[in-house]
Amino acid sequence: MHSGTKYLGGHSDLLCGVLAVRKGETERWKGLWLERCTLGLVMGSLEGWLGVRSLRTLEVRVKAQSENAGRLVAWLDGALKGGREEGEGEDAAEAEVVRKVVKEVKHASLQAEDMHWLKKQMPNGFGPVFSIYMKTMQQARALPSKLRFFHHATSLGGVESLIEWRRMTDAGVDETMLRLSIGIENWVDLKNDLAGAFKAVAEMGN
Ligand SMILES: *Cc1c(COP(=O)(O)O)cnc(C)c1O
Repeated sequence: MHSGTKYLGGHSDLLCGVLAVRKGETERWKGLWLERCTLGLVMGSLEGWLGVRSLRTLEVRVKAQSENAGRLVAWLDGALKGGREEGEGEDAAEAEVVRKVVKEVKHASLQAEDMHWLKKQMPNGFGPVFSIYMKTMQQARALPSKLRFFHHATSLGGVESLIEWRRMTDAGVDETMLRLSIGIENWVDLKNDLAGAFKAVAEMGN
């Protein structure tokens, strides 16, 4: 069972679910088929058409999203670990701002201890969603409004990048946590956007 609403649809404009069964086992799944016929909802024709269009670009979209996320995570992780960009320069200044406001970044690509099975499960790249933990709740709450490329929204999987201060919709999570769903934009634009927003919240005071 898959959600077609996220990466399969990919444009945040349709709701869809996919239930796939083994080929040639139609007898075994007849109950499902009958239930769908009598009780289930049939997708609207517009959603069906949008879904077919979406599938034609699934490969390029998800690859681009995964690559973008990987690059952003590597940039943030590199900045947090520090030391790589010696001396002066724009990169070093940017890394310092990251260190000033970001506490931690979490993504499958950083789970070194799980790599043996992660690589098997995701041989062509990791998922385009990751989270960052800011130093303070105030910074986490303010960050989304300092960004221009990212919309502040709950969803994920679309071609446009989203960010969400998770505490707003989930009282059970760390109040410094932000969830990012990366789209297909130019990754340097996304990086510069994040760097600018980090700078803005660093200057905010408390
Ligand atoms: C994920 C999501 C849903 C739920 O979709 P499913 O088909 O149940 O996965 C609904 N609305 C939005 C905006 C979503 O992002």
